[in-house]
Amino acid sequence: MERFAANVFSETVMKERLPKSVYQMLIKTIKEGYPLDPKCADVVANAMKEWAVERGATHFTHWFQPMTGFTAEKHDSFIAPCSDGKVMMEFSGKELIKGEPDASSFPNGGLRATFEARGYTAWDCTSPAFLREDAGGITLCIPTAFCAYTGEALDKKTPLLRSMDAISKEALRILRLFGDTTTTRVITTVGAEQEYFLVDKDHYEKRKDLILAGRTLFGAMPPKGQELEDHYFGSIKERIAAFMREVNEELWKMGIPAKTQHNEVAPGQFELAPVFTTTNIAVDQNQLVMDTLKKVALRHDLVCLLHEKPFAGVNGSGKHNNWSMSTNDGQNLLEPGKTPHENAQFLTFLCAVIKAVDEHADLLRLACANPGNDHRLGANEAPPAIISVFLGDQLTDILEQMQNGGLKRSKQGGKMTIGVSTLPTLAKDSTDRNRTSPFAFTGNKFEFRMVPSSISVAGPNTVLNTIVAEALAQIADRLEEAEDFNTALPQLLKEIVINHKRIIFNGNNYSQDWVEEAQRRGLPNISSTVEAIPALITGKSREIFNKHKVLSQEELYSRYEIMLERYCKQLNIEAMTMLDMAKRQILPAACKYVSIMSEAINNIKAAVPQAMTSGQERVVLELAANIQALQEKIEELDELVGNGHDLQGDTYEHAVYYRDKIFPAMDCLRSVADRLESLVEAKLWPFPTYSELLYIV
Ligand code: ADP
Ligand code: MG
Repeated sequence: MERFAANVFSETVMKERLPKSVYQMLIKTIKEGYPLDPKCADVVANAMKEWAVERGATHFTHWFQPMTGFTAEKHDSFIAPCSDGKVMMEFSGKELIKGEPDASSFPNGGLRATFEARGYTAWDCTSPAFLREDAGGITLCIPTAFCAYTGEALDKKTPLLRSMDAISKEALRILRLFGDTTTTRVITTVGAEQEYFLVDKDHYEKRKDLILAGRTLFGAMPPKGQELEDHYFGSIKERIAAFMREVNEELWKMGIPAKTQHNEVAPGQFELAPVFTTTNIAVDQNQLVMDTLKKVALRHDLVCLLHEKPFAGVNGSGKHNNWSMSTNDGQNLLEPGKTPHENAQFLTFLCAVIKAVDEHADLLRLACANPGNDHRLGANEAPPAIISVFLGDQLTDILEQMQNGGLKRSKQGGKMTIGVSTLPTLAKDSTDRNRTSPFAFTGNKFEFRMVPSSISVAGPNTVLNTIVAEALAQIADRLEEAEDFNTALPQLLKEIVINHKRIIFNGNNYSQDWVEEAQRRGLPNISSTVEAIPALITGKSREIFNKHKVLSQEELYSRYEIMLERYCKQLNIEAMTMLDMAKRQILPAACKYVSIMSEAINNIKAAVPQAMTSGQERVVLELAANIQALQEKIEELDELVGNGHDLQGDTYEHAVYYRDKIFPAMDCLRSVADRLESLVEAKLWPFPTYSELLYIV
């Protein structure tokens, strides 16, 4: 309890160290979204510095989230030289509020050219500053937003904060209609469950694919995968437990309530879940979780892989983004209560989410698109690429009653109702039945399960907040105009149910039947990143992002460009890495083995000819045939990669080329190489195999 948040410039610390008036001003900004009063900056900066320096900090950094999806930081020390040759520790309000990193060196999708480099970081006081301890000492990290000189957002945080304002504004309109006069802000909350793999560092260092692409590009399946289902929730090995313990310690110090940890389905796969918090803070915390997992792993001679699909043939990793809305005094707006059919306000918010997900499924799909996730979605493990909403028996029944007019009952006895009075137990809701759903109602929140493990959750939540804000806005427009609220409301909700019930599906999302059923219902099935990206710039998308002031036209286009470019670059890196490994490691190993075998055959023929069997010759012939195939696949991929570098046309066409040409050619090369792996003598194989990587001792 004492160590928790010891490294956070928390509300408690602020209350202790700031003059009362400054503290109150700041809290109004943090809690209620009031504009930040710049006058308080100097005072806060000084208090922050004193607090940090007392704890041994020497440097500070504006910590921001450019569109790489990672975090960025530039460290400055507090020292300021004095005339007597000594130094003072200084930190001004200006330094707290504003930084000036070079904007053109980060992905900007054309928003900044190299010669127009100016960009700013701006203090986000709604996410607390914290100290980070590592080999570099102790650094004061100040969460910031990052924008161009021309004002466009160049990061993931700014649109997220804007979307939080938007949903608050629209949700308040609804609350007012229900007679709530006291709520001043509605916030969204997020709990992000993080899946990851660990591999031995010695093995990792021998695999160029893991180093350069974050996933294995080659590797035959080991004799044992996950079929015995013995890893999930299995007893945690000592070495892993020691790692987890240190991760927790680090996270707790930074005020991150790391709560749940367990072995995941695939061998070598694990999960960590913190307790949910305000979306903005949850997003920052998830970035720190990923960073901490990677750093601490190295201290244990392990490497943490956050890639969505580090290994073919076993489950990949995702992030379950648990999401809800709540009032500033902590009332969860997606809490159904014991008798949801009597809870009209809950049903209104529920219907808003259903409407939003149905109308903007393409945007949600887009928010989860990255090259890594293309290996998961629809591949019978993670949720499929088709977005649908799981509601469970009770709520589905209530929606049917709404459609037929008149609400009479809430089915009791289902797990849903039990859960209402015991929420934490209900959070274990992912039974086999709804585990397959990409967007599942789990008691008092929605669990968006499509999110890739490696990305910032800022994107998915920006989309979620914006589309729900739009649905709430439309509902509020209608109800505010209505003559009689009490008759207009059921009528409107009934309409929503009728228009959007096609998005509700409680069955098995992995089945082929569902794919066909979804098609009949007209639900989009967007199977690849390249197909998903254009959703960003459709008229519909521009309209809602502009209307709610989340992303301007230019900002949308820049993100569209960045995503496409990123896709091409990632596939190019993967293809080039494969070629390098195939030419310089796999081919030489296979040739060496053929040569050894041939020499052995010659020796036998010379020494004891009658001991010669056709078996040895068959081995050589099979190897030779595969070597031939390997060389052909290398040449094919080589040529395609070369052509890729000379492509004309726009970025979208490039991305299509990488998906349609490079991706399949990589698969072909891999399958020959993996066959060779099963033929070549183990000790000649040039890098660690799946068995070695997946089973940490
Ligand atoms: P499971 O693995 O069964 O989905 P976990 O307990 O691992 O469940 O994770 C559930 C996550 O949902 C946790 O991070 C939890 O804090 C979060 N959560 C619970 N209530 C809410 C809420 N109202 N808003 C957002 N997230 C929530
Ligand atoms: Mg979950």
